[in-house]
Amino acid sequence: MNNPVLNVNAVSKDFGGIRALDEVDLVVHDKEIVALIGPNGAGKTTFFNCITGIYQPTRGDVLIDPQCSGKTRRINGKKPNIVTELGMARTFQNIRLFPSMTALENVMIGTHCRTKSSIWGAVSRNKATREEEQAVIQRSYELLQLVGLEEYVNELASNIAYGKQRRLEIARALATDPFLLLLDEPAAGMNPQETRDLEDLIIKIREKFGISIMLIEHDMKMVMSMSDRIYVLDYGRMIADGTPEEIAGNEDVIKAYLGED
Ligand code: ATP
Repeated sequence: MNNPVLNVNAVSKDFGGIRALDEVDLVVHDKEIVALIGPNGAGKTTFFNCITGIYQPTRGDVLIDPQCSGKTRRINGKKPNIVTELGMARTFQNIRLFPSMTALENVMIGTHCRTKSSIWGAVSRNKATREEEQAVIQRSYELLQLVGLEEYVNELASNIAYGKQRRLEIARALATDPFLLLLDEPAAGMNPQETRDLEDLIIKIREKFGISIMLIEHDMKMVMSMSDRIYVLDYGRMIADGTPEEIAGNEDVIKAYLGED
């Protein structure tokens, strides 16, 4: 198998006396869909925060290799905007859109980190040509189409229904042109039909862009049906990883998590 695009090595995170993550190891390979599951408070969002620069890990390494070339780059301590520029884009458990901007503008914002000539950076410096401007708008519109929100193009983000806002966040993340898309509870607040549609969308995104996807998710049906591999966190420790079949049959996991229902 190729080198992993993300290699997390013995990452720990302490908050005062609380160890939220304890020597966590995890890898994501090219074009893999990897799920991170675990009970409430297990440390899943803290893990995303540690690998995307929102938190600095207390110990351990976060290494990326977007080209699978064997040349890894250590990204600990990089700021979130730099991590995004390096190709890791994310969504949030509590949606973080720009509520007073339109759906299209929210996606256009995503292009800013990638396209130095994006209208957000360059128009103010009077550098973007009309063609560049059009290209950003066109690409953002296509991403809205991909997530099924083209009819909301000029709608303020705050006026869009909750489940659809989650899809808008995905479009904005894709606009940064990531090699790895990180989704924090993408199905939260969605009804069963919206969740099935989301599954289809995630599979489509992997096929269309050829990228890796990692998701934190509590909907086990979704996790089991779409993940290539699953990691399980419990009290900050990685207690298991494997295929959906392996995880479903793992005694420790059943005790810690799956047996809860
Ligand atoms: P959920 O499924 O409920 O979203 P989670 O697995 O994402 O939970 P985290 O939110 O990562 O869990 O929290 C893990 C632990 O770290 C919890 O005990 C939480 O209280 C603690 N924690 C997280 N962030 C902080 C912080 N900024 N300061 C102090 N403690 C924190």
